[in-house]
Amino acid sequence: MEKKFNIVLLGAPGSGKGTQAQKITEKYGLKHVSTGELFRKEISLQNELGLKAQSYIDRGELCPDILTIEMLHHYLDLFPEAKGYILDGVPRTIKQAQLLDGVGYPKSIPVDLIIYLSVDQLEIVARMIKRAEIEKRSDDTPEVIKNRINNYFAQTKPLESYYQKSKIYKVNGMNDAETVFTDICHIIDQFIK
Ligand code: ADP
Repeated sequence: MEKKFNIVLLGAPGSGKGTQAQKITEKYGLKHVSTGELFRKEISLQNELGLKAQSYIDRGELCPDILTIEMLHHYLDLFPEAKGYILDGVPRTIKQAQLLDGVGYPKSIPVDLIIYLSVDQLEIVARMIKRAEIEKRSDDTPEVIKNRINNYFAQTKPLESYYQKSKIYKVNGMNDAETVFTDICHIIDQFIK
């Protein structure tokens, strides 16, 4: 099998990762995986993993690293033929990035490209409030939203420097979705012919 091409989408909640991942999937045929969506699926099933995750998610905390990476591998193992994966919402901590690299975990998911969607903090808050009205997710209350944003800056933003020596590209996520996607395509096209 050919080597997979794996992309990490990095960015705050509300930075547009899900929207862009969808577009990338359509154009390049990579398999999209959102750990947030995987957790919500487990919660709707009310199984052991779901119940465990729910207590973190409802507080706006990150779920434990190993739990997250294990769930990710379980899911990706279902798609061994994929040309590559778009990782949306993972890694979210330095530890998760190391686990993906196979440090402290028996399997690895090599990261070929990191696209960082950069959005101002005020815009993030505005977008999350707007989305909360539409989606009515249980973790979209003002208190929990505040926690999620704080945790993003404390735990996930440091990944930007962690990946500095890798192929990390910053895209202006303040633009409209089509412009952001055009910028992303320019980057991906340098890698995928
Ligand atoms: P958002 O990007 O809006 O925060 P997500 O759907 O990506 O929403 O994630 C929802 C919640 O799921 C997060 O707040 C967190 O509790 C949990 N979660 C998702 N991905 C991870 C991850 N990689 N590590 C730990 N927890 C995660």
